Amino acid sequence: MSVKVDQIIRTERKSTEIQVSVEGHIIVRAPLNEPIERIEEIIESKKFWLLRTQQIAKAKYLNDLHKKYEDGEKFLYLGIERNLQTIDNDPVPLSYRDGTFFLSKNYLKFANKFFIDWYKDRALDYISGVADRFSSLYKIPYKKVIIKDSFSQWASCSGDGNLNFSWRVVLVPPEVIAYLVVHELAHMDIRNHSSDYWIKVEQMMPDYLKHENSLKEYDHILSILKNDGGPSFTDSRDSKKKEDISKQNKQLEFEI
Ligand SMILES: [Zn+2]
Repeated sequence: MSVKVDQIIRTERKSTEIQVSVEGHIIVRAPLNEPIERIEEIIESKKFWLLRTQQIAKAKYLNDLHKKYEDGEKFLYLGIERNLQTIDNDPVPLSYRDGTFFLSKNYLKFANKFFIDWYKDRALDYISGVADRFSSLYKIPYKKVIIKDSFSQWASCSGDGNLNFSWRVVLVPPEVIAYLVVHELAHMDIRNHSSDYWIKVEQMMPDYLKHENSLKEYDHILSILKNDGGPSFTDSRDSKKKEDISKQNKQLEFEI
């Protein structure tokens, strides 16, 4: 059995690193001029570890997409998997304390909806806080944060100054959320992906590239709790794949 590499990301780094993403993709991060033969050699030397880790990741990923709302199930929040505990006869459908979600058994049937509502509330609160912080720090005004149910893109901005985010943004780690906010906020000043734009982003967040690259690993999160009759991952988002925001991209698209 051979190892299939899903993505090779070359950057100015010193060593080659191999990662297995949450969805079981194998991602190689390599120095700009590392020969492909050398990368293949490294992969071969880690073959068994990679295949096993990939298998575990894939199984876990599939499990994540089919929530049963049972005790012990994990739900992402700010990049960390939190435990679910179901409780009898609680009038509050869903609450969150000390890293644990508590779901009232009375509302099991509507658990999906209550989770999405909870994430939406938190997303508005959390993202507004981050946006306000960067907005005052870099003197970039914006109108307001709007939370959407988007599963095809993380964020976008509108010409009249609104910053739009999928509620699923609160599932990824805080540093990645901060990058998504910085990305949109910088568009308030520069409405394209020109090199001036990226310089601006870099001023606001010197290590932004690391977070931008990591978005690929979180791609599957956009499909979580898709509100269309059950948790599933379809190909619909592939047809409207998020913009490739490479530095060469000169399109007037603000989405990410
Ligand atoms: Zn953009």
